[in-house]
Amino acid sequence: MLCPYCQNKESKVMDSRESEESIRRRRECLACGKRFTTYERTEKTDLVVIKKDGRKEPFNIEKVKAGILKACEKRPISIEKIDAICDEIESKLKKREKTEIPTALIGEIVMKKLKKIDEIAYLRFASVYKEFKDVGEFRKELKIFAR
Ligand SMILES: [Zn+2]
Repeated sequence: MLCPYCQNKESKVMDSRESEESIRRRRECLACGKRFTTYERTEKTDLVVIKKDGRKEPFNIEKVKAGILKACEKRPISIEKIDAICDEIESKLKKREKTEIPTALIGEIVMKKLKKIDEIAYLRFASVYKEFKDVGEFRKELKIFAR
């Protein structure tokens, strides 16, 4: 949660109230001390991620976001942009008929999004995600950008 006054990421929750669709939280910024209110969706989905080894776990967009944030580190990409990408990914996944999502699909979607906005972030994500088997494969990806 970014502070709307100073953009600091850390805040403490002073008060929270849950309604059917959202949790309203009264927060205080740890940097500037100003207070603001956030509304977080409580919408629950039954999306399940199927991992490479077959294990299942509940889908959590925060995990996807963590991967994207890591790939975008020190790149000129705003947190708003990353949040927007995460929203798009989440709604895309919710629109599918199946509730089970292979991790490979999530990876592909993230890569497509990153490819459009920043090639370094894309390559970082892809190198972790695809576990490029050799340098040649990585070069091939690089060449796509050279075109
Ligand atoms: Zn602040």
